[in-house]
Amino acid sequence: MNPIVPHLQAFIDDRVNLWENELLTIQTEMKEERDREKERRRLNMVNQVQFQCLNCSAFICRSDDIKCIMGVHHIITDPDADERLRLERDAPYFVEPEGLEYGGQVYCANVSCQLKLGVICTFFKYKYIDFPLISLKAFRVVNPDGTGKSYKVWKNVPCKIADFTFDDLRDV
Ligand SMILES: [Zn+2]
Repeated sequence: MNPIVPHLQAFIDDRVNLWENELLTIQTEMKEERDREKERRRLNMVNQVQFQCLNCSAFICRSDDIKCIMGVHHIITDPDADERLRLERDAPYFVEPEGLEYGGQVYCANVSCQLKLGVICTFFKYKYIDFPLISLKAFRVVNPDGTGKSYKVWKNVPCKIADFTFDDLRDV
């Protein structure tokens, strides 16, 4: 038996292992790069998705101006959005034990539009302050590339909406 053969076999096996390892490393790196790209796209969308009035296409707010309270309601926390809305106060129709009440109406401020966009959510426990609570169906959600559509449920909206924290209350 030729004594070189086992060495050669071991050499080939080592090379195969090396190639396999290299291939695995490349595949892992490619996957990590794809994940990073996906995350970049997601962050980009989070910052840039716009909410427009479904009726007149007026810009109302960006997705990061919206916060989720009680896990279900979505309020606009950017006070600048008030210029683009008309709030009509009324007696609350529902009061939460946590110190929130809902009532009144929120409309698009465009005088020729006046689409109803939601109701008023009032915090009264720590500070008496109003937020527009928006109805998703009254909006067109517009991507950075200008394409957009309306959604019935928040879970389908292509951006992440942060939860409301009491820091948000301190900011206003
Ligand atoms: Zn409008």
